[in-house]
Amino acid sequence: MMAPAAHELGINLQILAESPEVCAVQVVPHAPVGDYTDLDQLRAFAAGVDVLTFDHEHVPTQFLETLIDEGVNVQPRPAALVHAQEKLEMRKAVERLGLPNPRWAEVASVDDLVSFGDEIGWPVVLKTPRGGYDGKGVLIVKTAEDARGGEASTWFDQLGQREDFSTLLAEQKVPFTRELSALVARRDSGEVRPWPVAESIQVNSVCDEVIAPAPGLDPAVAQAAADAAVRLATELGVTGVMAAELFEVPGTEHGFLINELAMRPHNSGHWTQDGSHTSQFEQHLRAVLNWPLGETAVKDEVAIMKNFLGGANEDIFGKIPEAVEAEPAAKVHFYGKGVKPGRKIGHVNIGGSAAETESLRAAVTRAARIISDGHA
Ligand code: ADP
Repeated sequence: MMAPAAHELGINLQILAESPEVCAVQVVPHAPVGDYTDLDQLRAFAAGVDVLTFDHEHVPTQFLETLIDEGVNVQPRPAALVHAQEKLEMRKAVERLGLPNPRWAEVASVDDLVSFGDEIGWPVVLKTPRGGYDGKGVLIVKTAEDARGGEASTWFDQLGQREDFSTLLAEQKVPFTRELSALVARRDSGEVRPWPVAESIQVNSVCDEVIAPAPGLDPAVAQAAADAAVRLATELGVTGVMAAELFEVPGTEHGFLINELAMRPHNSGHWTQDGSHTSQFEQHLRAVLNWPLGETAVKDEVAIMKNFLGGANEDIFGKIPEAVEAEPAAKVHFYGKGVKPGRKIGHVNIGGSAAETESLRAAVTRAARIISDGHA
């Protein structure tokens, strides 16, 4: 999705693709297939580029350090990126900056987990510090008995065989009313611009819908959340787009707690493609190139994004005309990927007045259903 923005700005985008099937290969002329966990392949790819950036956080840190030593301009730099790769590092940074964390602990054993749960109250949430996505790597542990006898104890048993981490993250189970996303972009000059804080609705731990700005959000909380994201981006030295995923918890000191950080264009920012003056993809490119950043206001009063996942309909392309006929104001973005149940294969954007929010939500839902299920 970075390709159209790059093309419009005259930027020669090149992609190191994981496989010939990834959608970027269809739209980016120079997209060699390679392995981002192989230093020589990374080196060969990075030779001659002005800047090297990412659309996921899994490139090994030590390889990025090596590339920087060899003169490659890596953005964001590994010292910032680690806070999106490693949840324990992120929790420590949020604490250091005095920003709102849930209660948390680094736990190395079932006993550590049980003491944490006994201290703050059950249930607690156990997380792998690295490699989680869409709720994989997140486990709710209801009681001390579950900690000792259930899946949690298996996670601790397996710690000895992991190369990427040796402890786990335990957190209080936050009684949030909804999830929010504070999206910002920052560049090396220090310029940083937030988009309005959005509501992000998850279904089975997968992002389903995003509404920007978050309807009915207390303006003081919206400001504090945007300020927190700006502060994190600034203090951590982030370049490019960063999403701070937040829990809204009314009645607490700040009104929200920080869940996690992503340092790249993020699903909770796909609404910006049609709904903001500057899309997160264009802004990411501008930011990593240290170009001036664009206006981030919402174009209409409200912008809505609905994901569509692989469902009953296998002929996605065949159903797009029906979806856009049913909802002419909806903008479909199809990733060109094959259909697999539950896999994100595209999204639908729409914008309008705040008073219309519910009918706009119904419209994108209808369009997304026609595509993924074959009927509204
Ligand atoms: P991932 O890396 O898979 O995105 P997250 O840390 O965002 O993992 O967790 C996935 C989902 O699990 C969140 O969107 C939220 O719904 C739930 N969750 C995560 N942490 C907590 C917590 N401390 N309290 C309550 N729910 C949580």
